[in-house]
Amino acid sequence: MTPQTSLRAYALSLLAATALSVAACSPKPATETIPAKSAHMDTGERIITQNFTADRFTQSNYADIAVTHIDLDLDVNFYAKILDGVATLSFERITKGTETLVLDTKGLLIKAVSVETENGWDTAERTMGTEDPVQGTALSIDVGPSATKVKIVYSTSPEAEGLQWLTPEQTAGKKEPYLFSQAQAINARTMAPLQDTPAVRLTYSARLRVPDGLLPLMSAEQLGQQEDGSYGFNMPQPIPSYLIAIAVGDIKFKAINDTIGVYAEEYILDRAAEEFSETPQMEVENEKLYGPYRWGRYDLIVLPPSFPYGGMENPRLSFLTPTLVAGDKSLTNVVAHELAHSWSGNLVTNSNWRDAWLNEGFTSYVENRVMEALYGKDRAVMEQALGLEDLKRDVAGAARPSLTQLKFDDDLKHPDEAFSQVTYVKGQFFLNFLEDRYGRAAFDPFLKNWFNDYAFKAATTEDFLEYMERYLKPSNPDAVSEAEIKEWVYGQGLPDTIRNPKSDAFDKVAAQSASFVSGNIAASGLKTEGWSTHEWLHFLNGLPKVSSAQMEDLDTTFKLTGTQNAETAFAWYMQSIKNGYEDAFPDMEYFLKEVGRGKFIYRLYGALKDTAAKENREDWQFWTADVYEEARPGYHPIAQRRIDDILGK
Ligand SMILES: [Zn+2]
Repeated sequence: MTPQTSLRAYALSLLAATALSVAACSPKPATETIPAKSAHMDTGERIITQNFTADRFTQSNYADIAVTHIDLDLDVNFYAKILDGVATLSFERITKGTETLVLDTKGLLIKAVSVETENGWDTAERTMGTEDPVQGTALSIDVGPSATKVKIVYSTSPEAEGLQWLTPEQTAGKKEPYLFSQAQAINARTMAPLQDTPAVRLTYSARLRVPDGLLPLMSAEQLGQQEDGSYGFNMPQPIPSYLIAIAVGDIKFKAINDTIGVYAEEYILDRAAEEFSETPQMEVENEKLYGPYRWGRYDLIVLPPSFPYGGMENPRLSFLTPTLVAGDKSLTNVVAHELAHSWSGNLVTNSNWRDAWLNEGFTSYVENRVMEALYGKDRAVMEQALGLEDLKRDVAGAARPSLTQLKFDDDLKHPDEAFSQVTYVKGQFFLNFLEDRYGRAAFDPFLKNWFNDYAFKAATTEDFLEYMERYLKPSNPDAVSEAEIKEWVYGQGLPDTIRNPKSDAFDKVAAQSASFVSGNIAASGLKTEGWSTHEWLHFLNGLPKVSSAQMEDLDTTFKLTGTQNAETAFAWYMQSIKNGYEDAFPDMEYFLKEVGRGKFIYRLYGALKDTAAKENREDWQFWTADVYEEARPGYHPIAQRRIDDILGK
């Protein structure tokens, strides 16, 4: 158990300490802009309160003692599939008299622990707690009354959920192995002993030793190869633990401009650099809206296809799935999304996974604003409409009604439950709602100030609501009612006040679709010239059950089975399952074995299972089980766990 009372007391004392300055300062009008500040400057009195919500997904005693820096000195051992070496942690006591440092670990082999004293390093007393299947094992270290550093000799487990070790055969180049990490939400503890909660920020440095011919990269400044052959890394800005990231492989680099570039395996490097060539403009638009990019370089890395996400916002180095490289820049909103996290999420971080919408809802909103600035309103509105379709589906299919709230109840079984379209799209539409009511003239500078005032800090939903009350509401006191805000943030399902994104292009698609479905026109009669990926997705997602002849007609006319655009392929395979169109199954099987992106494969396996059960298709059940058995070893551990659950393994 982690004692949490002292942080509550700490938060209360902060509240008391700031009460005077709050009383003395009149609310600033929301339109006032404040000067950009340097990365480490405290913003002082503008932070009103720290509303504390205990993080149940850490066993660390972060309320009493906070790790401020971690230095990693590791061998990347592909043979044993482990990281092996030393972590040195610096820490500060928050509660006076604290003599125990409790860290999160999961599957780590702790070999030795020492604490820094006046005489050098002394062996420290330590105990391991009992293992919890979600949280892992707490490591308690006696740090005495005055030490500020501990050194932990350890290695990771070959089964670490945060690390995926690929054999050469699982890469495109087939010659060298590959390693990449995914620490969000609570997998940093499978990579190193630390306080694995977004409430704590730390800087980090690292030295990695890798086999010859491989390039290691981290979510940090890449210092390159050192004299001793190791590679150095430095992250000077404080980040939450879930943003520590590592990738090692036969990786090449191509610059897009002086501060932005792409890392990837050779086979896709040029295509990726071309696909993402507009990233610099995205950064410019982001800065225009929300202030300077504060992280130095911004690079992208295209990972092997088993990467379970569209992207991961690791600072300075976003991790991306190769399924974004569609050849026509139609899926680059994911890059806009990961880049936007440099403001929402990485700069201002949810202090708890119950507040995940502060990361993802804000980021989806910023992403869409940047897409609008770069490509115009039509595309932005189409992307909103597609998002809303996904959101409605996730709300309808939520495992519990409480999972449709923006602020989650304290009943999450795992932080992964927080990452549905509710968090992303409902969060985005809440900000759209505020934008509509207050107008951009007030809302844009308000949001910019939020990022600035909470820069390099963790925030809760309640922090944001208070900030809104103080800095947005005065610009138009009657724009929204308290009841409306409450319904959005704490209510379930979708509020009536949700924006309805109207897309003329989508209306035309819907009209075409209706004629096709009713049998008035054949597939060849559909006016699809000039349809973007978005229009195709709207068409495919909206199809009701149609006849086998119509499925075949669509497929022969548009060659949908086996299409190289992963989003279109996914939408088509979902329809194929719904309509029992088995001609698509061999290509779907290939897709399931090739692509490990969770967004696609979780729903495909789910639909296969549900449809087989509903329609008594035992043959489909066997087929699905066979495909999964073969595909599973190639999936990321996170995806394996999720699909095991979906299929009831
Ligand atoms: Zn995100």
